[in-house]
Amino acid sequence: MISISSIREYMFCPHKFYLRHSLGDRDEENVFLSKRMKRLRIDVYDLIQRNIRGLKAEMSLDDIKNNLKRTIKEVLESSLNILKEDYNILQEEIDRIKMDIVNEVCFKIDILSLKSLKAMQSLESDGHKIAEMFFPTSMYNYLMRDLNLEIIGSCDKIEIVDGRYYPINIKVFNPPIAGVWDSDAIELVANAILIEQEFDSEVFVGFIDYSKICERRPVIMDSKLRKGLFKVLHEMKEIIDGDIISETKFDSKKCGSCSYQELCYMNDENQSINAFY
Ligand code: SF4
Repeated sequence: MISISSIREYMFCPHKFYLRHSLGDRDEENVFLSKRMKRLRIDVYDLIQRNIRGLKAEMSLDDIKNNLKRTIKEVLESSLNILKEDYNILQEEIDRIKMDIVNEVCFKIDILSLKSLKAMQSLESDGHKIAEMFFPTSMYNYLMRDLNLEIIGSCDKIEIVDGRYYPINIKVFNPPIAGVWDSDAIELVANAILIEQEFDSEVFVGFIDYSKICERRPVIMDSKLRKGLFKVLHEMKEIIDGDIISETKFDSKKCGSCSYQELCYMNDENQSINAFY
């Protein structure tokens, strides 16, 4: 079975996927940490979603903001303290992570407060009603597998609107100028295919939520993208079966933070480690 996270890794660098497959995981702790960080963001967004239900039509913009922020600080602090102990993270790093999340959440709350105020005034409704409008029924981290394609993985969020399923992946890094990164699109179409198999329902579109800039970008599940995924899966299977050995392709942006850097460098003595920087 090929996991969706390894599809992402292959898209990042085929050689990294090859090395991890042949030598074992060097990034295990980082992968767990980034999963926990994503879970923490989902928990905070979930809290905002619950807080919106308590809004009243007569509230001012400041009241709305304060209501949406309720208990987020406490949840964030206790979760980060647990994270710090579990992973032995320095306080400096915890402060940096906290600052990133707080900036992101404040931005989201500012936008959502304005939208909520406008929606409550226009529809003459309270928060309970507009929460249904803004946040459709959703499933989080739903694990799925496709035995024919031999892929397994979970989607960050699946929204269900009028019986249709929409895969959503949440990304904490910067988006491209327009559209989504190729790797994000390939990962999302893999999720879409798993949803189609699991729920017997065709998926036409999915979304990437770039949380840093609070923007949702659509991805159309067309045949070109689906073929792109099948090509990637075929190439990954060739590496897994030992039919091909991927070549090292140095890239200063990617290699600088890669845990297999030393190995790649050793295997290619003509390359200078200084080329990374
Ligand atoms: S060091 Fe660079 S080439 Fe080597 S596996 Fe990592 S990203 Fe790929």
